[in-house]
Order: sequence, then C-alpha cells, then structure tokens
Amino acid sequence: MTKQKVIIAWLYPDLMSTYGDRGNIITLQKRCEWRGIETEILSITPETKSIELKKADIVFGGGAQDLEQEIVMKDLKGDKGSVIKELINAGTPALFVCGAPQLMGKYYEPAMGKRIDGLGIFDMVSKHPGPKKPRLIGNVVAQVELPDLVTTIVGFENHGGRTKLGKNAKAFAKIIKGYGNNGEDGTEGVIYNNAIGCYFHGPLLPKNPKISDWLLSCALKKKYGQNIILKELDDSLEIQAHEAIARRLRIGV
Ligand code: GLN
Repeated sequence: MTKQKVIIAWLYPDLMSTYGDRGNIITLQKRCEWRGIETEILSITPETKSIELKKADIVFGGGAQDLEQEIVMKDLKGDKGSVIKELINAGTPALFVCGAPQLMGKYYEPAMGKRIDGLGIFDMVSKHPGPKKPRLIGNVVAQVELPDLVTTIVGFENHGGRTKLGKNAKAFAKIIKGYGNNGEDGTEGVIYNNAIGCYFHGPLLPKNPKISDWLLSCALKKKYGQNIILKELDDSLEIQAHEAIARRLRIGV
C-alpha cells in the first residue's frame, strides 16, 4: 500500500494563532509521523490561491483578536470562504478555535466597530459586549458526547465574545468548569458534520489526544474510503496531563 498522507490547511498562521494554538498543528503532525503517515502543512495566507485550499484533508483555524479577524474575513469573503464551506459540507474534518469559529458562524460583533459577517457554516452568532465587560478567562473542562467520541476535554479560554447557538446547531461539549460559549447556558463550542468549533486554547490537542485521533480518523476515512484503525500510541504522558488538570478543576484546587 502506498504511504498515506494527510494535508492540513492552516488558516492564516500569522494572523490567527493565540495562546499556543500552533501546538494543534504540531500535534497532528507528530501523531501522523509516529504512525508512518506523511503530512503536508498548507499555510493559507491572503496570497494563497483558493485552488490550493481544495487539497486539504483537515482544516485548522486558531484564535485571533478582533482586528485580525476583520482582515481574515475580508479574504474569506472571496473564493476561499466558498472552498471552506464546500470542504466542510463534504465531511472534511476541521478544528476552529475561538476567533476562528466566530468567523464560521453567522456573524461576530466585535468590541468596537462594525459587525463582521461570517461564513454561516455554524448556526450561531457571537457578540462582544464591549471593552468594559469582563472577558471570559480561565482553565476549562467539558464533556464531549458524540456517538463516536466520548471524552472530557481540558483547555484554557480567553474571549470577550459570547456565542449563542441557533436552533439547528449542536454544541460540541457541555461545560463542567469554566465559561464556554457564553458563561450562561453551559454549552461549549459547536459541531457540524466533522467540523468542530470551540473556545479551547492551551492548545487543545496535546492534552486531548482523543480529539486529535478523531480528526485524523475522519480525514483518512474520507480520503481512503475505508474504516481506518489508527495505530495505538503510548499516550500515558498526555493522559496524565489531561487527568491532572481535569481533577484539579473539578475539585477546584
Ligand atoms: N476576538 C475574539 C474574542 O475576544 C477572539 C479571541 C481569541 O481568539 N482568543 O472573543
């Protein structure tokens, strides 16, 4: 069998990568490398042609502040936004963190300035209540319960925007400790097809290996059309890190 390969599109690395988000890319790369799977990272910038983006097997977008989000969205309003929509609708797995899912929703209202219209992939809206209102900051733990993915997730959140899910949206997880989408309704993130939106920085994937492998399995299954059983890795350190922070947050020490 020819060597498997996963192409990861990384949206605007220079504009969208806060609180260690690039660790998600490193994690996906490493977990492939340890299994003999080749990877290619496609850095998507305003100069990239949209046809390049079509090659993506996984899409990743990290956090960004309001100003950067505006710049990114101007570029996504062109062909690249349509390609991202096509990919997600076709079942390409994706991970969007904080500022990125806000742009994949219907709109984001920044702390100052005009509303930024999003791509509308996720049925949700996000609004910043203004610079005088507190940001939602801290360590977070939440429970994911999807048919093929049941796990707690741990991470760090830091956002001013509050996200409200629409009636067709499905939350990615349920908050155990922390604020999540808005600090009020206990929801965290959103999932549509195989695209996850979440507020978890930290970064998310190193301490939550089940999420990494879920993304990789979806990508390989879609690309090679078969049920892929990923080679087991020794995750004892990752699990220890995960458990330690989950325990601490649950009991509040
Ligand atoms: N600008 C957004 C907010 O404050 C996103 C922040 C982030 O990505 N960390 O809600």
